[in-house]
Amino acid sequence: MPETLFKVDLTKPMNEQELPGHNRWHPDIPAVVSVNPGDVFRIECKDWTDGQIKDNDDPSDIRDVDLNVVHVLSGPIHVNGAEPGDILVVDLLDIGALPGDEWGFTGIFARENGGGFLTDHFPEAAKAIWDLQGIYTSSRHIPGVRFAGITHPGLIGCAPSHELLAEWNRREKALVDKGGPPWKPQIPPLAALPNPDKAILGTLPSSEFDRVAAEAARTVPPREHGGNCDIKNLSKGSRIYFPVYVDGAKLSMGDIHFSQGDGEISFCGAIEMSGYIDLHVDIIKGGVEKYGMVNPIFKPGPVEPHYSEYLIFEGISVDEFSGEQYYLDAHVSYRRACLNAIEYLKKFGFTGEQAYLLLSCAPVEGRISGIVDIPNACCTLALPTAIFDRDILPS
Ligand code: ZN
Repeated sequence: MPETLFKVDLTKPMNEQELPGHNRWHPDIPAVVSVNPGDVFRIECKDWTDGQIKDNDDPSDIRDVDLNVVHVLSGPIHVNGAEPGDILVVDLLDIGALPGDEWGFTGIFARENGGGFLTDHFPEAAKAIWDLQGIYTSSRHIPGVRFAGITHPGLIGCAPSHELLAEWNRREKALVDKGGPPWKPQIPPLAALPNPDKAILGTLPSSEFDRVAAEAARTVPPREHGGNCDIKNLSKGSRIYFPVYVDGAKLSMGDIHFSQGDGEISFCGAIEMSGYIDLHVDIIKGGVEKYGMVNPIFKPGPVEPHYSEYLIFEGISVDEFSGEQYYLDAHVSYRRACLNAIEYLKKFGFTGEQAYLLLSCAPVEGRISGIVDIPNACCTLALPTAIFDRDILPS
């Protein structure tokens, strides 16, 4: 077992850990550990809400979740020799649950607190608890399904430079100031701008706290550094190439998912858990310019679950409430594909909430199948049929 460089005590919040992590992005958050290129090491992570969600049948913790706390991250890790313009090569050698904590949760956030992709259809909070048995999982809240996990960090990336952070804050504030399209109710909100409330900034001296907390970016969106990409295929054995923006790279990670469907549609949509990640790091000097890199690139690992038979639901870019035609809008099309799958699953005894939770966290494949056939984008959602204990094909 590799040496554990960042440990978590699940009975304590992140800011009371022996080595505190952080829940905002800022280049001045000090690194808490350092490694050399070529090192192999283990990092432990809390779940993304810092332990707010409990293993019980009551969804009030999902309804009342404090989203200013998210995402709690482990790190930053200083990689000796990494400099701006380098590529940090990160191998995810293994990912798993912490011993004694083999469970996870999937939630539907209430419309008033977080919302999600289908919040206009499912405005109430709901929760499914998943029991993890080795590579498999099942839930007492969604009977009749069992599947293998595709375990991955929802969130991993390097710290931004001061310049990049300023650019994130500029463009996201501009979006909020401009307002969203008139047809779009602003739930979920347009963006999560810097917010000092509940900010955790690692070992930053308290004299610096107010300045950094006011500037530090929220961890919600994916950005140029990767961050909260929520890509299910970033699983065991993957090799990720990250742009480096600051000396030492300052790599951080968290939000481990036992499993997730493409889109993570309910927002608290993966099987969220605490866990460990074993890593190997290396550096490609000057790699960002050499490969014209803007965002991370990665090579998936060889040990994903293998599902070969799917029932695939199509969706087109027509609003389900108004009947309005949208122009090649993949967001609307994917929503329609998901709603079609949910309506179908309701015919097999699932509630709408159970189906929504299941599409969020089971290994479903989402695709942009056509993006040129005016005026409809065609998105598809592929449901692996083998995860059900009964035949779900039309007959
Ligand atoms: Zn997550």
